[in-house]
Amino acid sequence: MTIRRVAVLLPYPFDRAFDYAVPAGMELVPGAIVTVPLGKRMMPGAVWDDVPDETLPDRRLKPVAGMCDAPALPATLRRFVDWVAQYTMAPRGEVLALALKSNLLQRPPESFGWAAGTPGDRRMTASRGRVLAALAELDRPDTVALAQAAGVSAGVVRAMADAGFLVPARRGAATPAPDPDHAAPNLSPEQAEAATVLRNSVAARRFGVTLLEGVTGSGKTEVYLEAVAEALRQDRQALVLLPEIALSAQFTTRFAARFGAAPTLWHSGLTPSVRRANFHAVARGASRLVVGARSALFLPFADLGVVVVDEEHESAYKQEDGVAYHARDMAVVRARLADAAAILASATPSLESAVNADSGRYAHITLAARHGGAALPAIAAIDLRAFPPPRGKFLSPVLTDALAATLAGGGQAMLFLNRRGYAPLTLCRACGHRITCPNCTAWLVAHRAPAGLLCHHCGHTEALPETCPSCGAAESMAPIGPGVERIAEEAAELFPDMRRIVMASDAIASPDDAAAAARAIVDREVDLIIGTQMIAKGWHFPDLALVGVVDADLGLSGGDLRAAERSAQLLHQVAGRAGRAGVPGRVLLQSFAPDHPVMRTLIDGDLAQFRRAEAALRAPGHWPPFGRLAALIVSAADSGIADTAASALARAAPPPDEALVLGPAPAPFALLRGRHRRRLLLRTPRNVAVQPILRAWLERADVPRAARVDIDIDPVSFL
Ligand SMILES: [Zn+2]
Ligand SMILES: [Zn+2]
Repeated sequence: MTIRRVAVLLPYPFDRAFDYAVPAGMELVPGAIVTVPLGKRMMPGAVWDDVPDETLPDRRLKPVAGMCDAPALPATLRRFVDWVAQYTMAPRGEVLALALKSNLLQRPPESFGWAAGTPGDRRMTASRGRVLAALAELDRPDTVALAQAAGVSAGVVRAMADAGFLVPARRGAATPAPDPDHAAPNLSPEQAEAATVLRNSVAARRFGVTLLEGVTGSGKTEVYLEAVAEALRQDRQALVLLPEIALSAQFTTRFAARFGAAPTLWHSGLTPSVRRANFHAVARGASRLVVGARSALFLPFADLGVVVVDEEHESAYKQEDGVAYHARDMAVVRARLADAAAILASATPSLESAVNADSGRYAHITLAARHGGAALPAIAAIDLRAFPPPRGKFLSPVLTDALAATLAGGGQAMLFLNRRGYAPLTLCRACGHRITCPNCTAWLVAHRAPAGLLCHHCGHTEALPETCPSCGAAESMAPIGPGVERIAEEAAELFPDMRRIVMASDAIASPDDAAAAARAIVDREVDLIIGTQMIAKGWHFPDLALVGVVDADLGLSGGDLRAAERSAQLLHQVAGRAGRAGVPGRVLLQSFAPDHPVMRTLIDGDLAQFRRAEAALRAPGHWPPFGRLAALIVSAADSGIADTAASALARAAPPPDEALVLGPAPAPFALLRGRHRRRLLLRTPRNVAVQPILRAWLERADVPRAARVDIDIDPVSFL
């Protein structure tokens, strides 16, 4: 006797799917969510496309235990999970776990209820009649409410649903669907032309990538929303990825104004019940427009028509823990598998995307003019060697004079420093002792609000000691260098009457807080903004007249491949905050190296020139994007074992004609979260796939079991 079998992929770190028998009477489609036994436990899983092993004897197979009341995962999502696993070399189950969280599976009760259906089984009974009568009185009641109103058991209601008397329907005031023609924008000729290109790319209903490059303030968002509108007209879904969830509130307002309905949000800050409702709405196709963080790529879209990656250059799109994937690159893959259009938007495109556009792999649209005719800000450097700040302070007199003039004239100003906390280092003035994290190779950062010392890598906190832990001297511990809180303190002393706000993730914890802060700034309840990179991303502050960059050199000496690129992008974004609507903007960069190439391109406003210089540096050695990189991070609780494992990998390294191997070297944070880390980097020309090389390498190497090897394909940070 043959039994029907299915392969089920489990959201746990297994690469293989497991075979199960399908009980009689159970109908399973590919992608169906089921519960299955594994060992002694029951777990959720998804019916996968793998062919079950028919040679396995029946008695070896356990049956599928049950079906979940959740939508089946669409084929495009299943292929995406397989693709991401293959590319990142993560087990398929670990990738599935990004899409399938067990707390999402139960169908959300709050937005659904029963409506009258067209029954196939017309057998009417007295109790069924009472249910239909009660149904007419109620607005989409759920099972319990309907059974109570009709005075029947819940089983009667469920049986009626099975028989087709009842169909599920959205309850109450359903969220209105976004309307692509709700408030069509007033586009400039340049924007209109770009919008047409993007609309056509969506209307073609096939895969293609467009790089939308527009100077800050050029109205990129209005333009790509026309592509979203086209997807809505086509009855398809749209996904807009944002690098920072703090931005989602401001975007929600803009999207709602354009489409007459709020988008569906997807990020880690949502409550579990909202996440669950949104998950199901996306799967049903009821959610047409999703705005989310990188994990939104793993939502079960019924029919995805366009994926927009806003601020595509942001390194926040790279996930470092667990499955190490780059959401920008995976968004392109997601679009390809769904025959959808992909749009990468940025004022400062990554070198990767710029090179793809130059080579013709991506279409390229440029918006050169600022929307509404606003002029680009005038950018100048302040040479800190010639105009140093007063002793113990961090703002040059040139900058404070400019601030005073702007504020006195009623203008709004911003100070930018990409460093959280009060001081990056606490040092003993008596013996020179520096307070470091016990778990990481890192200094503890002093914070004032709330007060204490904090490790930005592992979260370790301790109180500031009153005596030096090393020499015992009293009151000898001094903060060294500025964080954003210290700049706020200096600004308060200089401009005590001005209304200030600090925008950093310590002070602004949620998207709602960020939206409230942004509103206060736009409504001119704030004169002076002091912030970290949080203020560099996509905010629209129309009255901002002056931006002072406290330390423009920060990031130039990071020692990693993209340090200069990131610095150029960040500073350009900050500069883009100034002078957006009629107010002529001015940007002052405090620097000890005003002649550095990054600083020169910023002052000249010439990012294309910067990219050409970067490309010329990277191309000869096959550095990305002209070659491929993969990092092997070896870690162990014991430093000797980490060394042994790293040497074993080095001995088994692929030959030089196959790939270049650099290392092993201590990872920049040799000790992180209590684990000792060593790093090897593998580099190949662009047309060589690194995964087979890595797989063979790991098989050859005799790595001790107590060590762990993490793989990061296309590493972005080198921590
Ligand atoms: Zn000391
Ligand atoms: Zn730490």
